[in-house]
Amino acid sequence: METEEKKYKSSLSVKKGVSQVNKLDKKAISKFKLSKKFENSVEYYLNGIQKGNISILSQAITLLESSKKEHKDKAQEIINLCLPYSGKSLRVGITGVPGVGKSTFIEALGMMLVNKGKKVAVLAIDPSSKKSGGSILGDKTRMEDLSASKNAFIRPSPAGSTLGGVTRKTAETIILCETAGFDVIFVETVGVGQSELAVSSMTDFFLLLMLAGAGDELQGIKRGIMEMADAIVINKADGDNINKSRLAMAEYKNALHLFPASKSGWIPIVKTASAYTKNGIEEVWDTVLEYEKLVTKTGYLFQKRNEQAKYRMYETINDELKNRFYNDIQNKKRISQLEKDVLSGKISPYFAAKELLN
Ligand code: GDP
Repeated sequence: METEEKKYKSSLSVKKGVSQVNKLDKKAISKFKLSKKFENSVEYYLNGIQKGNISILSQAITLLESSKKEHKDKAQEIINLCLPYSGKSLRVGITGVPGVGKSTFIEALGMMLVNKGKKVAVLAIDPSSKKSGGSILGDKTRMEDLSASKNAFIRPSPAGSTLGGVTRKTAETIILCETAGFDVIFVETVGVGQSELAVSSMTDFFLLLMLAGAGDELQGIKRGIMEMADAIVINKADGDNINKSRLAMAEYKNALHLFPASKSGWIPIVKTASAYTKNGIEEVWDTVLEYEKLVTKTGYLFQKRNEQAKYRMYETINDELKNRFYNDIQNKKRISQLEKDVLSGKISPYFAAKELLN
């Protein structure tokens, strides 16, 4: 009994302590509830993003990338709220084959800009990340100095099943970053497929990185990509590579002459640069600024961004229609039925498609 009492007493004394903690808990709980509520409001995100709060910006991007409908809906609300504050950055697309030196180049250029007092965001589109499970862009430590800078924000490619989906999310991430006050946004992609088109559909300036002496200078990179470029930079122009890079520069200049003039009135520039020696980095940036000056004056920048927005609207409609069609349970059953009929030669593919669409 005595031990029981002891236990009771001791538990009483413990309880005292607990009740003190409880008092605190109540306060903490109500505060937590408040902040939870605030966290859940789209105004919370807008305020945080406008103040340049990186953690809230990241949370908003995570909502955008989420596959949950409620998250996606909220992200869209946030983006709508951010729209009036967006559009003030310079959006620069950078592409080139793996190994050409994209991340080293962006780090050098980005650090130069950060040192000039600019806020720099780097977004990456990596078309390989879904298919291969691994990622060409994300498999190494990238941009260490820039990652450590408080005026830089680096966000890898959102995972997505379609390039269209990834593209849309990246374009929307640009809006969020601009609201957060980033002055320059780099959108990086691997030059291995359709992703260049996607990048050029969301950026103001398109930069193609190339290497000298990689066999026939004009092989390996599609003419279409070269046509999209506002500047070609022969990268790694250092050491033994300097002369070869100059030769390559002359060759690319000649090649570009053969391309039709751009609607922007801008004549694409070819330069050499090295992220190692930093030679040419400043000049590349001067080129981007010259371009900006020209297209702002002529109104082309405004027109281009409008066209991009329109393009994205239709892209989204196309994506959404496809999703709804293929994800409809009834359709799924019917599609597999009709597919069998097509394979067995019972009906024509055209007829099957018509039937399904009807
Ligand atoms: P990415 O795959 O296009 O992002 O290329 P990386 O930036 O990862 O660079 C690929 C390799 O090229 C790395 O080993 C870099 O150290 C090297 N590299 C990058 N920039 C330069 C440069 O300006 N000069 C030289 N010589 N090497 C470079």
